Amino acid sequence: MNLQFPRFFRPLVGRNIIWRKKTSSKVIYLTFDDGPVPDITPAVLAILDQYNWKATFFCVGENVSKHPDIYNEILQQGHKTGNHTYNHLKGFSCNSADYLLNVQKAAQFIDSDLFRPPHGQISAKQIKLLKNDYQLVMWDVITHDYNQKLTPEQVLSNITNNVRSGSIVVFHDSVKAADNMLTVLPLALDFWISKGYTFGLL
Ligand SMILES: [Zn+2]
Repeated sequence: MNLQFPRFFRPLVGRNIIWRKKTSSKVIYLTFDDGPVPDITPAVLAILDQYNWKATFFCVGENVSKHPDIYNEILQQGHKTGNHTYNHLKGFSCNSADYLLNVQKAAQFIDSDLFRPPHGQISAKQIKLLKNDYQLVMWDVITHDYNQKLTPEQVLSNITNNVRSGSIVVFHDSVKAADNMLTVLPLALDFWISKGYTFGLL
């Protein structure tokens, strides 16, 4: 089963976006999208704390505006945050001026020079508007934790089969992904630690 972002798509988004950090060190860049969400993001923070592992949380501005306490907790625990638009916009169905405004609105709540486009959708024009202010971050391993047709075993094997040094891995601290994500996250951390990987921060 190929669960990765289609490779044919990558050239369209160009060299201003990173998919994986080029490194030979055994480092994994763990990321979480779409929070902060009550109960779920704090549960992620508790797991990461237990493993002494740091991650980057690409937050939806609207969620940060509703849950600033959880957002602050992410930062207090030594993790990083990134901008994921204010309303989780799909770049391909949004004009670029509106897209930029939405990112700027999120930036009032999220102080970061990292940006990840929701759904991986971003046009060349939108890249041009954002690239001077943001490092655009995609991923090379998406867990599909939100796919409720996948079992935790399938989600985990997708991770263990595809990670390598410098991989950028995406989980979701969302209600939809919670069952898979909260089951698989500790298993993925156990796996990485057993293979000698450490965390990197974007
Ligand atoms: Zn998202």
